Amino acid sequence: MNRPCIHVHPLPNERRGSWLAVRAQISGHPRRRRRNGEVYFEVPDQFDRWTALCDDVEDRHDVWLRSAIFPAMEAGYDLVIHGNVSASLLANVEVYQNIIANWWSQYQVVNVSAEQEIAGTAKVAPTDALLTFSGGLDSIYTLYCHQRRLRGRNSRQIPLCVFVHGYDIPLWDVSFQKAFERARRIVESLGSQLAPVRTNLREMLPAWPECYPTALAAVLSLFSRRFTEGLVASSVTYRHDRLHEGGGGSSPTSDWLLSSHDFRITHDLANATRVEKTQVLHDCTTAQANLRVCWVGDDLSTNCGVCPKCLWQMLCMKAVGLTDLRAFEHPLNAERVALMPVVSRVYWDDLAACLDYARQAGRGESKEFVALAHALQVSPVAAARRDPVQTPHAEPGRSGLMRRTASQLARLVVRSKPAA
Ligand SMILES: [Zn+2]
Repeated sequence: MNRPCIHVHPLPNERRGSWLAVRAQISGHPRRRRRNGEVYFEVPDQFDRWTALCDDVEDRHDVWLRSAIFPAMEAGYDLVIHGNVSASLLANVEVYQNIIANWWSQYQVVNVSAEQEIAGTAKVAPTDALLTFSGGLDSIYTLYCHQRRLRGRNSRQIPLCVFVHGYDIPLWDVSFQKAFERARRIVESLGSQLAPVRTNLREMLPAWPECYPTALAAVLSLFSRRFTEGLVASSVTYRHDRLHEGGGGSSPTSDWLLSSHDFRITHDLANATRVEKTQVLHDCTTAQANLRVCWVGDDLSTNCGVCPKCLWQMLCMKAVGLTDLRAFEHPLNAERVALMPVVSRVYWDDLAACLDYARQAGRGESKEFVALAHALQVSPVAAARRDPVQTPHAEPGRSGLMRRTASQLARLVVRSKPAA
C-alpha cells in the first residue's frame, strides 16, 4: 500500500521591498497548520543574483528537500519535491535518514522523490565558501582559521557569511538588528561581509536541536549559484563518539550527507575544545567584545552572563588569560559556577579541558576554577565514571540542559551586583 505523501511545490519568487523572497508551498502533513503552508527565504537585493532559485527551468530545488526532510520523517510520510533535485542529494539523504532514525526513534525513514532528478556536473574543487554566522565562538573560530589560512589545503576564502533571522532569534524579535550589528563588526574585522536572511522555516520544523543542521544546509544552499561549498561551524569535537548528544543533530558523521555533487556541506573544525577555540580571541579583540553565545537571556542580542553557556564561555576566557568580559551583562561569579549543573558527558569533558588549561596556565587556584572543580566533582557524570554500574546516568542533549538550568542560575542574579 502506498504511504501518504507530503508535497512541496516551488512558487514564483516575489519582491518584498528591498528583499527577494524565494518560496514553496508545503502540503499533506498531518499536523495541518503547524507544518503546511508557504515556506520562504528572503534575501537582500544585492545578493539575489547568487540565489539558486530565479524562476528558471534550470533551477535546482534542493533547498526544499533540505527544508522538508525532517517534517516528512516526523510524519512518516513520503516526500515529493515538484521540481528539479540533484540525484546525489537524493542518494545522500537516504543514508542521512538512516542515521537520524538510529539516533531518535520518533523519526522514520521515508521515500523521497522529485519530478526531475538532475545528474551532477563536474566542478572545480571549492576555493571559497559560505558560512552561517550568528556571532558565536564556533563560527568565529571557523572564520578566523580560514581567513588566516590556518587550515592547510582545506583553507577557504570566506567572502560571505549569512546570519539568519528566524533561527536562533525568532522573526518577531527585534533584538536581531542589534545582534546582527555585533556579528557584522566581527565578520568585517576578519575580512568578510555579513548578509541577513529572513525565513519562517523554523516555525514549520519539529524539534530544533535535531533539525537545525538541515535548516543551516538549506540556507547555505540557497546561495549555490555563487558558491560550491557551505560551512557549518562545529560545536562538538571528534573525541566524542556519540557526537549528536553534544551538538544536537549536527555532527561530522551526518552533516556532510546533506551535500549534493554540486554543493558540499562541510561540518567544519571539530578538532578543538571551547577553551582551545577561545585562544583565537587574543588575536581578535573585536570578536572578544562582540561575541554572542547566549540563547536564553531576555535580550538575545547580548549575553546574560548567568546561564551555563555564558559561564562556560567566561571560564574559557579567564582560563586563557582574557580579562575583558564586557560582552557579558554580569561578571563571572564563582558562586554560580559552583552551582552549575553538569549532567552531560560532552559538557563535562569540555569544562574539564577548560580546568586543565587554567591549571597548566597557573590560574587554577582562582576562586572561579576552584568552584568549577567542585561542580565537576559533584556532577552525576563524575559519579557515573566512578561507579558506572550503580549510578543511573541520564544524558540529555546539551541544548535542553542549557535551557533547563538557566532559570535556576538566573535566581542568583538578584543576589549579585550587575557588571559596572
Ligand atoms: Zn547567557
